[in-house]
Amino acid sequence: MFSKILIANRGEIAIRVIRACKEMGISTVAVFSEADREALHTNLADESYCIGGSQSKDSYLNMSAVISAAVASKAEAVHPGYGFLSENAEFAKLCRENNIVFIGPDYSVITKMGDKDMARRTMKKAGVPVIPGCDLVDGVEHAKKEAARIGFPLLIKARSGGGGRGIRLVNEAGELEKAYNAATAEAKAAFGDGAVYMEKYLFPVKHIEMQLLGDNFGNVVCLGERDCSTQRKNQKLIEESPAAIITDDVRKKMIEATVKAGKAVGYQGAGTIEYLYDKTGNFYFMEMNTRLQVEHPVTEMVTGIDLVKWQIRTAAGLKLDFVQEDIEFSGHAIECRINAEDPYQGFRPSGGKIQMLHIPGGPQVRFDTAVYQNYTIPPFYDSMIGKLIVHAKTRDEAIRKMKAALCELIIEGVVHNAPFQLEILSAEEFVNSTYTTNSLRTVDS
Ligand code: ADP
Ligand code: ADP
Ligand code: MG
Repeated sequence: MFSKILIANRGEIAIRVIRACKEMGISTVAVFSEADREALHTNLADESYCIGGSQSKDSYLNMSAVISAAVASKAEAVHPGYGFLSENAEFAKLCRENNIVFIGPDYSVITKMGDKDMARRTMKKAGVPVIPGCDLVDGVEHAKKEAARIGFPLLIKARSGGGGRGIRLVNEAGELEKAYNAATAEAKAAFGDGAVYMEKYLFPVKHIEMQLLGDNFGNVVCLGERDCSTQRKNQKLIEESPAAIITDDVRKKMIEATVKAGKAVGYQGAGTIEYLYDKTGNFYFMEMNTRLQVEHPVTEMVTGIDLVKWQIRTAAGLKLDFVQEDIEFSGHAIECRINAEDPYQGFRPSGGKIQMLHIPGGPQVRFDTAVYQNYTIPPFYDSMIGKLIVHAKTRDEAIRKMKAALCELIIEGVVHNAPFQLEILSAEEFVNSTYTTNSLRTVDS
């Protein structure tokens, strides 16, 4: 096992990883930007190194600065968290070249799956159903030709996309040129890569994703699904496991497809395959995230399996000590993302100092966060300030527990979305589990 790990991230996920390391007896190294001097991760780790300016590109995205900190601190491995460098194949390769273990799959797997167009083709070859669409399109004329074949509405999607960016909906042929130009421009600005492909726009659908875990010995298990259909602007707001509307038969098929896909690419570590599910039992591969997911705690709650510890163990060369049949799913878990934004003012980001903080507790209530009382939220990063997760025997009980916890949560000084989350939990579509990725469309400004 490693004796020291560097965490190349910030916020709640850095705290999550530091906690796992502490429980495993592993020393921790934090890296931080100038804006994060007073951040919790900076102070909770055993050692910490300033790696640059407040903008992500000057610090958390600065590969050589992160590698230098790892070398200087003699860290044997780097945990990339999510976002930032977590799906950057070049960074994973750079780690290896410096004799540092990247906690995640091999860089060749990241390359294959991070290119969403190549991932589609890889999955198709592995026998996993993919969303009808086309490969990369080269210019507006080519897009028009492919669009005529695919049909409308369709989505233009960035090959290097992530976090809901670089996606454009095209309702009819007349909108294509403008959407194509907008998508390629946004993709170029956000990811430095303007390449796009197209998919049929499926609706109404659920976003159902499957968690997988693999080791270096070819073993791959699937830890069930998460329903992440509660989304605003293609970004998740609430996630739950299990997905109430999936039958045991469909679940079994999805687990089989996911394990097959994981084995086909030689997957090691934690990863997620995202599918669209059309409620008649059909599911289609959408993308693979070759990292720990924001919403991983709901899976941890229903399986009792610590995903971060298993990421670390498998990266250290340990074998999974359980097989698919050993995994037991128990009860129901829900996660609400608490964002510093004003849902009643067009989701305008909010910031500033947290004057008063009260975190709900009680049995099976978990709040993953990096904020504390008197902490000032820097304006440079994500608007997510915490994740409230509950676990109960039944879905009804979990919803009630979540509502109680949301009511108890106090974060004064910044505007946040807990009141909006409460509204969603009471909506009929949520209560009866029929909500789709379009359910929140009406609130979009
Ligand atoms: P999840 O599927 O785990 O919910 P998201 O797509 O919401 O993941 O992204 C997780 C985090 O990573 C978010 O904070 C998002 O802003 C960030 N992120 C996603 N893709 C990228 C990217 N390509 N570059 C930088 N940050 C990203
Ligand atoms: P990202 O890499 O930004 O997470 P995804 O490919 O996962 O992008 O898509 C983000 C979200 O957009 C999905 O969760 C889903 O709600 C919606 N979406 C993506 N592709 C389609 C599609 N072909 N039809 C309908 N909705 C889609
Ligand atoms: Mg996605």
